[in-house]
Amino acid sequence: MNREHLLQTIDEISHTLRFLNEIGCDGFDCSQKSLQALDAWAHPGPPVTETLGAVREDLGDCRRCRLAGGRKNIVFGSGSSKASLVFVGEGPGYEEDRQGEPFVGAAGRLLTKIIEAIKLTRPQVYICNVVKCRPPDNRNPESDEIKACLPFLERQLEAIKPRFICALGSVAARTLLDTTDPISRLRGRFHTYKGIRLMPTYHPAFLLRNPQRKRDVWEDMKMLMAELEK
Ligand code: URA
Repeated sequence: MNREHLLQTIDEISHTLRFLNEIGCDGFDCSQKSLQALDAWAHPGPPVTETLGAVREDLGDCRRCRLAGGRKNIVFGSGSSKASLVFVGEGPGYEEDRQGEPFVGAAGRLLTKIIEAIKLTRPQVYICNVVKCRPPDNRNPESDEIKACLPFLERQLEAIKPRFICALGSVAARTLLDTTDPISRLRGRFHTYKGIRLMPTYHPAFLLRNPQRKRDVWEDMKMLMAELEK
């Protein structure tokens, strides 16, 4: 250590001691217990792995945005915590809000058929939404509502670590890919979300209104199925 470095270190120690004195500290605890605590802080164990249970617990009885005011139930997500494929929708509708489960209304029944068409079952995949509470009158979630809820979706994906994500509709695709591109331009090819391959496709509710687009979704699902089987 050169002289300049030494003086600087002394100065820092002196500064710290003065600070400790100001906050009422007049000695050091050199007990075995304190030394062990210091050792533990200096050598933290392996990083805590995320779990769906922890995410749900942290979400709690969420009041982070205005959607809380109109909801009956938080719709967290359902399916396998070890799923290779996660479907992400936009937000709960009337039936989902009533039952507290994602995709259980008319769009949900179509999603079930899509899942079965790729030779999977609902319990094998995981299904959730960008926002966990129903937007009034089935409007799209607003950007501040998405921002409040997104950390929980990110943590769900971190907990599951799926091989693939299927983003259903423009809200899910744009949110996860952080883009404003239209779903018609995003669908039909794989993108990447934090290293996970993501296939955007049309939302099942859109397909109910535009059945001629089912052909496009089938093309997207065939690509997904081929990669899942590899
Ligand atoms: N639409 C969605 O985006 N999510 C649901 O859970 C139901 C309908």
